[in-house]
Amino acid sequence: MAAELPEDPENELADYDEGNLDVHEDATDELQAKGSYAGVQAAGFRDFLLKPELLRAIGDCGFEHPSEVQQECIPRAVHGTDIICQAKSGMGKTAVFVLTVLQQLEVDNDGQVAALVLCHARELAYQICQEFDRFSKYLKGIKTMVMFGGIPEKQHIDYLKDNKPHIVVGTPGRVLALAKKKVLKLDKVKHFVLDECDKMLESLDMRRDVQTIFTHTPHEKQTMMFSATIDKDIRAVCKKFAKNPQEVFVDDESKLTLHGLQQYYTKIDEQDKTTKLCDLLDTLDFNQVCIFVKAQKRALQLNKLLQKCQFPSVAIYGRMDQEERIKIYKQFKEYKARILVSTDLFGRGVDIERINIVVNYDMPESADQYLHRVGRAGRFGTKGLSVSFISSEEESEVLEEVQQRFEVHIKELPDKIETSSYIEDGKIEPPSTD
Ligand code: AMP
Repeated sequence: MAAELPEDPENELADYDEGNLDVHEDATDELQAKGSYAGVQAAGFRDFLLKPELLRAIGDCGFEHPSEVQQECIPRAVHGTDIICQAKSGMGKTAVFVLTVLQQLEVDNDGQVAALVLCHARELAYQICQEFDRFSKYLKGIKTMVMFGGIPEKQHIDYLKDNKPHIVVGTPGRVLALAKKKVLKLDKVKHFVLDECDKMLESLDMRRDVQTIFTHTPHEKQTMMFSATIDKDIRAVCKKFAKNPQEVFVDDESKLTLHGLQQYYTKIDEQDKTTKLCDLLDTLDFNQVCIFVKAQKRALQLNKLLQKCQFPSVAIYGRMDQEERIKIYKQFKEYKARILVSTDLFGRGVDIERINIVVNYDMPESADQYLHRVGRAGRFGTKGLSVSFISSEEESEVLEEVQQRFEVHIKELPDKIETSSYIEDGKIEPPSTD
């Protein structure tokens, strides 16, 4: 079956065992073999002199060694230094600022917001807030709150009347609205974090919101900014928010592609895309797949088609009802759904451990966005596969740009791909049913 999908560009601005934490010199080789996720002089989390409660939570999370970005950033950031950090997708940037903030946070009971984290997408805010909860579980009295649009503002206003969070994670629109109404007081913020900072600062609307929020925070604070893609122009903008920042560029731009990821393209006519996609889903082994399309209508229709063909898919896009969006996000994150059709909403930051295949049903508009999208697979040094459908001149150009900028050779999709090349230990896990 083949089908053509409509176009509709979408606007979508709108989550102890001490023994495990030791430094092991020999472990370095093993880590290097996995794809240089630790530096040569691998330090352990204990070398960062973190609070015991944090070390315990780190142990619970199963983190054995800090990744390179964690080694580069955490020791500097825990002293309050401003940070601008570019490092590959999926290599543990979230834990850098979560641990840094929690390490420095002094909990008092007068209910002041001490840390504010802004990001571009609601699901990402939700995911980051969950990371704060995960790492603060042994620290007493820390309250977190996530806020984003799409749900009635009154809900947040009422919540803030009875609750005084120390850490707020949110998207700029809602945070600004509540700050302007003085329901959310930001005058005691000590740590200001911009995740996916290039995305937040490149669109002028969002940049304006971020700047205004920034002015609600005190002059003296720590500012930290992160993304996998921070080009020269955005770096200059970032610097305006920071004071003598440490610029941590773990990998230069050409090395930003993921080692464990097999990347392929196939030239295809628009009307053959769905048939090809179904073939791939039938023949490839996957735990979870994320299929990216360029518009919301296409996400809806492709999802319907896949479901008709008996594929267990769900779809997510920006204009979806917010409760439904989080429901779909959770379903996918908890491995209750295995195929997600998404617009670029899910193209950045969102961390779903079991995604081992990304399909660009439609190519993204930029090389940066390609890098973010395919980075949904192969997270934290695991194996993964990406297949990009190329059906126009413009899409070929983006593919070319990706290969030039990130020094990666994207091969033509062969008839057969060895399963062991894109799935960790060849393991397919049954979906969760609870
Ligand atoms: P992030 O780049 O922050 O989205 O993180 C990607 C994934 O790597 C998440 O699932 C983290 O829980 C995981 N992760 C981060 N740091 C470590 C670490 N040091 N050891 C093992 N897993 C990690």
